[in-house]
Amino acid sequence: MNERRASRQLGKQINSKLILNLIKAGPISRAEIAAESGLSAATVSNLTSELIAEGLIRESGVGETTRGRPPVMLSLNSNARFVVGVKVMPDSLVAVVTDLDAEVVAQRVFKDLGEQVHRSGTLDTTPTAIVEKVAMLVEEVIRDAGINRSDLLGVGLGLAGFIDSNAGVCRYSPFFGWRDVNLAAPLTSALGLDVYLENDVNSLTIAEQWFGHGRGYEHFVVVTVGRGIGVGFVLNGRFYAGHQGGVGELGHVTVVPDGPKCGCGRRGCLEMMASDRALIQAARDAIADGKPTVLTDSDDITVKMLVAAAEQGDDLACSLIAESGRWLGVGLAMIVNLLNPELIIVAGEGVEAGDLRFDSMREALSEGQFDSLGTDTKLVVESSGDMMWARGAACVVLSEFFRSPLHRGRPSAIPLGGTG
Ligand SMILES: [Zn+2]
Repeated sequence: MNERRASRQLGKQINSKLILNLIKAGPISRAEIAAESGLSAATVSNLTSELIAEGLIRESGVGETTRGRPPVMLSLNSNARFVVGVKVMPDSLVAVVTDLDAEVVAQRVFKDLGEQVHRSGTLDTTPTAIVEKVAMLVEEVIRDAGINRSDLLGVGLGLAGFIDSNAGVCRYSPFFGWRDVNLAAPLTSALGLDVYLENDVNSLTIAEQWFGHGRGYEHFVVVTVGRGIGVGFVLNGRFYAGHQGGVGELGHVTVVPDGPKCGCGRRGCLEMMASDRALIQAARDAIADGKPTVLTDSDDITVKMLVAAAEQGDDLACSLIAESGRWLGVGLAMIVNLLNPELIIVAGEGVEAGDLRFDSMREALSEGQFDSLGTDTKLVVESSGDMMWARGAACVVLSEFFRSPLHRGRPSAIPLGGTG
């Protein structure tokens, strides 16, 4: 292709994506598209005809007008294409198929990943074993959805750790112990579909921007608390990926220099003070020390059990949960002092500890804020299940599809504005 033709082609793709995004934001007429995009009426007419021919958009009735013929409105055909999202956890996999509006049309859970690999002898968490299971689950969920494979845009994979999404490589997975593992390439060849890898907290953040609490916000963060602690950022209306994808390791910020040793090799990371794992460890230690409590068995303690004990008035459970919340608040105050976001969304399985954890978190947050920073910051606690995370992984593919070629090479989402 000669240079002039190539640049004409790129210009056309950019304009086409621009139009598609305007239509995605809600029914709109060709004249309104021309006015909002600055494109000529002829260009809008040509490109919308092509989008209709591709099945991506449709004419959806007529709009209102004060004079003349009412304009024909154009809408996104949300069932025109589909994406798959998979949340990969150490013990389970959750997969969904969604349409272009990120609405789930099929879902599958593979619960006993840990058990299955244990039964086969040693714990097989080699990339090969995990890729094989992910591929199997993806095939099943595609079958469940009853869609044409040719309508699939790709598969998004959400995984904890340091993920280089441009390269499709997991640089470091604390749960699987992987270093520099390319997951996208073997999955692409196993499935014959494009595969996008993203850090799980980042994919949840993209989901919040697309269809969650973050919609319409220019500056927000998603803090997740569970086994670990992470944070995802949307700054100036754009998802922030960091250099080579390394971003948001809030859990490994040192808060107690001589504190307990963390899995990352250092001491006193926030994760060792505020995560579910830390909370459970603190309960075990207290029971072993013979502290008075209704909790007896220290081996199988869960956050649920601690919450139940606290609700019965168990002092130890109450104070341990409040303490973990206090440390979480210390972490949130750091974010507020650095970024002053409009909104903080707290999500993850750790939210099941409820107000016991979050009252002390709010208190520590307000104590740790610099001057009046954060006084306007909204705080939302969201109980997002595994399905939301898998939907987030699907949104990684959607954001890639709707992104302008101008911004290719960046690993994530574009703001869509008023989608509902
Ligand atoms: Zn650490």
